[in-house]
Amino acid sequence: MRAEVIQFLSIIPFGLIQEEVLNFLQFELANLIGFQARIFNAQPIPQYAFDSKRNQYHSTRILENLKQIKSRGELILGIMDADLYVPELSFVFGEANILDSVCIISIMRLRQEYYGLPENNTLFLERILKEAIHEIGHTYGLAHCDNPKCIMHFSNSLRDTDTKGPGFCFGCEMKVK
Ligand SMILES: [Zn+2]
Ligand SMILES: [Zn+2]
Repeated sequence: MRAEVIQFLSIIPFGLIQEEVLNFLQFELANLIGFQARIFNAQPIPQYAFDSKRNQYHSTRILENLKQIKSRGELILGIMDADLYVPELSFVFGEANILDSVCIISIMRLRQEYYGLPENNTLFLERILKEAIHEIGHTYGLAHCDNPKCIMHFSNSLRDTDTKGPGFCFGCEMKVK
């Protein structure tokens, strides 16, 4: 069990994130989790987490920092348009610590253009929402799920992300409740 009752969600953009993306997340996530979501002013890109050899940001270090600034009852979702990593993997779409009320996602690899494909804004927003729900699911104590259609299925490629739905499978849904 989480040690605190979550009362509100804070969406913290690091660097420039389109307003459309932030408003979309605010609306959809507030609907999903049933409490208020607010958008913070953009924060500077966290240079302390930058690895110049990898040209990526270490997500775990950003989470540690978010834990420090978090207030009681707050669930923080960080969002960045730069690449994230953990040492064991070449990149991550996002990271959360199980039962800690902080998580972060990167939207950089969620655009079709990143792969040289034509822009598709609907798909882009859908992927962002899926990644956000996935990370928030971890903060509710959910681990990765074997069901490829479940939002808690691990995804390390966009194929995985596009295969899964935005919802929890029955088993995961029961655990969240
Ligand atoms: Zn995960
Ligand atoms: Zn599941």
